[in-house]
Amino acid sequence: MPNLLHDSSWLDFERTHVWHPYAPLEGALPCYPVKHAQGVHLTLEDDRKLIDGMSSWWSAIHGYNHPVLNSAARQQLDRMAHVMFGGLTHRPAAELAARLVKLTPEPLERVFFCDSGSVSVEVAIKMAIQYWHAKKQPEKQRMLTIRRGYHGDTCGAMAVCDPETGMHHLFTQVLSEHLFADAPTVVNDADWQDADIAGFRALIETHHEQIAAVILEPIVQGAGGMRFYAPEYLRQVRALCNTHNVLLIADEIATGFGRTGTLFACEQAEIVPDIMCLGKAITGGYMTLAAVLTTAEISGTISTNAPNAFMHGPTFMANPLACAVANASIDLLIESPWQDRIAAISKAFSQHLLPCQVWDGIAEVRIKGGIGVLELDNPVDMAAITRRFVDKGVWIRPFGKLVYVMPPYIISDEEMDQLLTAMTSAVAEELRG
Ligand SMILES: *Cc1c(COP(=O)(O)O)cnc(C)c1O
Repeated sequence: MPNLLHDSSWLDFERTHVWHPYAPLEGALPCYPVKHAQGVHLTLEDDRKLIDGMSSWWSAIHGYNHPVLNSAARQQLDRMAHVMFGGLTHRPAAELAARLVKLTPEPLERVFFCDSGSVSVEVAIKMAIQYWHAKKQPEKQRMLTIRRGYHGDTCGAMAVCDPETGMHHLFTQVLSEHLFADAPTVVNDADWQDADIAGFRALIETHHEQIAAVILEPIVQGAGGMRFYAPEYLRQVRALCNTHNVLLIADEIATGFGRTGTLFACEQAEIVPDIMCLGKAITGGYMTLAAVLTTAEISGTISTNAPNAFMHGPTFMANPLACAVANASIDLLIESPWQDRIAAISKAFSQHLLPCQVWDGIAEVRIKGGIGVLELDNPVDMAAITRRFVDKGVWIRPFGKLVYVMPPYIISDEEMDQLLTAMTSAVAEELRG
C-alpha cells in the first residue's frame, strides 16, 4: 500500500484534518508524533525517547509492545479477528468472563461486554433502569451521583459527569437531569465527619422513589479533578442504597486492575456494588474493550420479565481479539508482583512530590497507590509545560491546574526517579515563569 502523504508533510495534513481529544481542530496545539513504543518508553519520530507517565490514560499498565500481549494478539488474529456476538460465541469471551467473575468480589458474576468505558456506563445505567422496570417500579429512572465525577463522553454518561467541568449547559436538550450531591471532601477515615455525607443522605432520602441507582467512581475521582475520598463515604453510600432500595453502580474504569493498591478500589471500603464498570486497563492498553458486571439477581430479574432481554448489543460486542489480549493482560497482572510495584511507585511519589507541598504556587499534593498529583494554584500553560516535559525526556499530560502521573506498573525505580525529577523541575520552572 503506497503512502498518500509525504514523509515530510503528513503531520501538516494530520494537523489540519484530524481531531484530537478535547481540542479545537483549527488552531490546536501541536501534537508529538510517536514512531514506536517499548516498555515504559515512547519514541518520537525525531528519535527522542520519553518515559511515559500516563500509561496512555490509565491503560498501558504493563508498558508497550509487551511480548506476551503481542503473542496473544497474533495467535487470536490467526484464528479470527472478530465474529458477531448475536447467536455466536467464542472461547476468549468465556475465558475473560471467568477471569472477571473470579477477580471481582461476590456476588458479581454476570458479564456484559462492550466497546469502551463510556458505553459501559450507558449499559450500567440502562441495566439499572430495566431492573426497576422489571420490578414494577418504572418510576425509578433517575441517577444520583456526586459532583466532580467523570463517567465518559457519550450523552448518557455525560449526564452523570460533573455539570460544570462536563459543560452541561451546552447540551441541555439531550442530557437527562440527574441528582448531584456535593463531592466528598474528607480524604481519610481517621478524619471522617458525618457532615461530609449529609448532602448525599438528604438527596437519597428525599428522592429514592425516583432513583434507579447511585453511580460514582469509588475512592478516586479521576478526570473530573483527580480527587481522593475516604472509604467511609463509600461504606455509607452502600448502606444508604440498601436502606432506600437504590442500586449502586461503581465506575472502576480508571481504578480497576490494581491502580489504587487494591485490585478494585471498592475493596478499600469492603463494599460490593450491584453493577461494576471496567475498562481502560482491561486489555493492558492494547485495544478498546469494557465490561459491566452484575449480580444473578439483577440479570435474572431483567431476563425473566418483559421484554425478556437486556436492550443493548454493540456490533463489536466481545471482540475476540480484545478479549484474547485482556485474558493475557489479566494473567500477566495476577502473576506479577503488582502490589510491590504499586508500593514502590507510591514511595517514589512520597519522596519526590511531598516536598513540593511547601512551594509557592502548589495548592496540594495528593498520592494514592500508583497515582501522583500536583494541584497548582493556577492553570498551567499547556504548550509551554508540555515542551518542558518533552525536553526533559518524559511524557506527562496535565489538565487545568493538575499535573499528575500514573505510570506503567513495570516502571523501574530509576525510571521513576527520572520521571519525577523531570516532573517537579518542569513544574518549578513553570511556577517561576
Ligand atoms: C475514562 C473513563 C471513562 C470513559 O471511558 P472511555 O473508554 O474513554 O469511554 C468512564 N469512567 C471513568 C471513571 C473513566 O476514567
